Amino acid sequence: ANPTRQGAIREIEANEAPATFFTGTSDSPEIFGENVFSLPVMAKRLPKSVYKSVAATIEKGDKLDPAIADVVAAAMKDWAMEKGVTHYAHVFYPLTGLTAEKHDSFMEPVGDGTAIWEFQGKILVQGEPDASSFPNGGIRATFEARGYTGWDVQSPAYILENPNGSTLCIPTIFVSMTGEALDYKTPLLRSQNAMSDQATRVLALFGHKDIDNVVSYCGPEQEYFLVDTSFVNSRPDLLNAGRTLFGAKPPKGQEFDDHYFGAIPERVLAFMHDTERALFKLGVPAKTRHNEVAPGQFEIAPVFEKANLAADHQQLIMTTFKSVAKRHGMEALFHEKPFAGVNGSGKHVNFSFGNGNQGNFLNPGDNPHDNAQFLVFCAAVIRAVHLYGGLLRVSIASAGNDHRLGANEAPPAIISIFLGDQLQDVFEQIAKGGATSSKQKGALSVGVDSLPVLTQDAGDRNRTSPMAFTGNRFEFRAVGSAQTVAAPLITINTIMAEALDYLATEIEAAINGGAEFNAAVQSVLATVIANHGAAVFNGNGYSTEWHEEAVERGLKKLDTTVDSLPEYQTPEAKALFSKYGVFNEAELEARYEVALEQYLMAINVEANLTEEIAQTVILPTAIRYQTELADNVSSLIAAGVEADKSDLLAVSELVSALRKGIADLKVAKADAHHHEGIKEAAYYRDAILPAMLAVRGAADSLEAVVADDLWDLPTYQEMLFIK
Ligand code: ADP
Ligand code: MG
Repeated sequence: ANPTRQGAIREIEANEAPATFFTGTSDSPEIFGENVFSLPVMAKRLPKSVYKSVAATIEKGDKLDPAIADVVAAAMKDWAMEKGVTHYAHVFYPLTGLTAEKHDSFMEPVGDGTAIWEFQGKILVQGEPDASSFPNGGIRATFEARGYTGWDVQSPAYILENPNGSTLCIPTIFVSMTGEALDYKTPLLRSQNAMSDQATRVLALFGHKDIDNVVSYCGPEQEYFLVDTSFVNSRPDLLNAGRTLFGAKPPKGQEFDDHYFGAIPERVLAFMHDTERALFKLGVPAKTRHNEVAPGQFEIAPVFEKANLAADHQQLIMTTFKSVAKRHGMEALFHEKPFAGVNGSGKHVNFSFGNGNQGNFLNPGDNPHDNAQFLVFCAAVIRAVHLYGGLLRVSIASAGNDHRLGANEAPPAIISIFLGDQLQDVFEQIAKGGATSSKQKGALSVGVDSLPVLTQDAGDRNRTSPMAFTGNRFEFRAVGSAQTVAAPLITINTIMAEALDYLATEIEAAINGGAEFNAAVQSVLATVIANHGAAVFNGNGYSTEWHEEAVERGLKKLDTTVDSLPEYQTPEAKALFSKYGVFNEAELEARYEVALEQYLMAINVEANLTEEIAQTVILPTAIRYQTELADNVSSLIAAGVEADKSDLLAVSELVSALRKGIADLKVAKADAHHHEGIKEAAYYRDAILPAMLAVRGAADSLEAVVADDLWDLPTYQEMLFIK
């Protein structure tokens, strides 16, 4: 038997019964937020006036008053040290999409050979990590290596536990010396403010003159795979690229649908239990868990929170999963397509808008007035998606997500919007000059100018739509599983700001022109549906007819990252993001540059791995088997027996194909530097990826014929099914 592969399997078999590592007082509600420097903790530990000031800052999203920073920092340090903390870290979200931390000790040398443990306000409020190792897309010349981090007071500090010394983590923004965003949090906060400003204008028109803050909410569902570490360690592709670059389709795949919502395997359950307890301590409301469609695939969904906090928590979910999985001898894979031929992983970004007092504005109300307000917010989403579908598309463009979008498992790369029967019907009636009935409730007379009562309609689902209304929120389903949710949320907030701005301006103008309020609203809604209804599509998003129709309707069909990236560079994009103060031109250009760089780097690594694995693992195995067959043939001939050469010939043909594939890939790689910028990316897509696939084709065919005991790489069967 093959020592590598069989060794991995034996190791898994020898695993003890699944153990949970979670140690804590008990499974009681008290563990929730135990490691968070939350408002209640602050209420207990801060002087009343300081607490009030911090609480107001959090509510309004202002900057922390420097005068109280020292008091807050000292209380935070005492609280943390009581919990065994030795270091603090400013946590930020650079353009790699990952989470970065810079750790420092509380220790401050006094100068006489002794030291004190100290945490000053100015250090809580601002850090200066060396920014040169993070992508900046040309914003900052390398000699200005400094970047600044600043505490985002709206996202509470928390403790990451570790037996070797825990760390106090402070969620921060990350900007250049000149204040340009080098991260995802800064523009997310800016976009949040822009959306809030415009939403409050709309709400004022509906008589809510007292509302001064609207937030976006986000509930992100995360899909992921779990694979045993022993397998991952013997698959250089999984280890280094996060996805398999080789692997024949298993005899049994996902066709039985027996995994989805099936019983969760014991070992996975132990892992989930531990991650959830760890997340609960961090105040992350990880509520829902289940199996997903593919074997070995699972999902976690926390309860929705304010988008900024949800984005930070989402990053925390990914890092927690990675580390807890390791302790359970497994690897959590977030790549969008770790295994060809089985479903990939996405991240559904459920979003809505509202605030603590008025609730959710995407909730249909129970009277015509509230419904009109609800329809205005829905209309804003329709306009936003229609005008800026390209920006939504590019916000989730990556080499990994390219494998998913457009395949019949994830929404297509065309960004359309699904309203469901009821809402669709209402908008159609508005377009015809006034809604008088709601489909769900039957004929319902509410007067010509007013709008019908709507029932909440959560059952209506369309899995093929990238942007679906699901009763009280929209669900953006095209986001990749490895991506930060901040990127699409920045775009959603910004394009909503534009659409709400437009709606408020139009309604104001109509009223100023003498129109009655209801009539003004109704006519603006009719205009929106007439001008932007093309983005609404309730049918099957996977069908080829839709792809043709979408193009006829003028919707963008941006199949790949390469097609999408130029969306960052259009005059419309520049005007939009700078008008609402989210990205200046340099910052937007930087997003483009970094996304391009990430794309090239990802495929470059994959191409190198493909060549290396094919050359040093698969080809030698194939040659060994070829030699075995050749020896067999010559022995038979020497013995005077008739020899069947068909296996030898078949294997020899595949060996030649593999050799040719490797040679072609080498040539393709060597030519890459003749191209630059987006042209280089197009070259990677059109020349390198196909060359990799040719190598894979030969290798996967060999896997199906080479003697099993010679095959080194763990198979799909093993990785997906052995837990
Ligand atoms: P499904 O798989 O049916 O889409 P899940 O329960 O897995 O549903 O996930 C739904 C997600 O949507 C959860 O994160 C949930 O908290 C979130 N959600 C529910 N209501 C809202 C809302 N008003 N705004 C944003 N997210 C919401
Ligand atoms: Mg969902």
